[in-house]
Amino acid sequence: MKIIKSVYDMQQTRLQLHDKRIGFVPTMGYLHEGHTSLMKKATQENDLVVSSIFVNPLQFGENEDFSTYPRDEEHDITLAKENGVDILFLPDTSAMYPSKMSLIMQTVRRTDVLCGKSRPGHFDGVLTVLSKLFNIVQPQHVYFGLKDAQQVAVVDGLITDLNFPVKLIGLPTIREESGLAKSSRNVYLTEEEKVEAMYIYKALQHGQSLVRNGEHNPEKIIEETKQMIQTKTNGVIDYIEILHYPLLEPITSLQHNDLTILAIAVQFEHARLIDNLIFDSTGNIIEELR
Ligand code: AMP
Repeated sequence: MKIIKSVYDMQQTRLQLHDKRIGFVPTMGYLHEGHTSLMKKATQENDLVVSSIFVNPLQFGENEDFSTYPRDEEHDITLAKENGVDILFLPDTSAMYPSKMSLIMQTVRRTDVLCGKSRPGHFDGVLTVLSKLFNIVQPQHVYFGLKDAQQVAVVDGLITDLNFPVKLIGLPTIREESGLAKSSRNVYLTEEEKVEAMYIYKALQHGQSLVRNGEHNPEKIIEETKQMIQTKTNGVIDYIEILHYPLLEPITSLQHNDLTILAIAVQFEHARLIDNLIFDSTGNIIEELR
């Protein structure tokens, strides 16, 4: 595995690989099975896999966890190597943002809900860094986890609106045995909170089972989901929403042919956790999007 730290070197390397099909897995590091599942899939579907590790300051709000975001470069290098990554792009902040930007990117759709609502500016930062990374790496395929389903929806908008010649692939959420979605931020949960946090997934499953049993009223599903989280955890619910996917627009009934997302964010003492299920109008879960 080749490690590249400079933007120039990454671009030169990409130029020399002009005839190769490149799969790209952007990450913020502190890798776990969620990330490595993307890497593995990318190795199956491409000639070469590039992954990046960059904790992007632009997507963190002032009071968020940029400085304390977990980092472990050595472990990440080992995991990336073991999971088939050919090139690991590890730029530092000055490589990605050498001078003050002359332009800003601003989302106007798909971000006034869910995490976009509680983290203003977050997705503007995500789109900025991904646009830069897409231009630097020039992949044919880019792999994201549906755990961050709003991110997938926003990137779908980016690729469409700016005509990036890249195919977006959204892959299943990888979970602990308890059902808790794997996340770099899980290290900040106490043992007690870890037990409570599994009820986020249980609540999502309960919501989905209501749809399977014919419930089409989003408010009812949200109410029952909320009750489970409130009775089983000490976390503070940031949001529970049911929206059209990937447009992330409100829906009044689940009786339509499009996809729906039930998404939850819960703030525990030192970690804010998110999770979701995407399903069709009969409640069948959609695990992968292409
Ligand atoms: P991050 O390092 O948190 O920015 O995540 C990098 C990529 O890994 C994103 O596409 C995430 O959606 C994906 N990812 C993170 N956790 C999981 C998980 N538990 N299952 C599947 N994908 C994940």
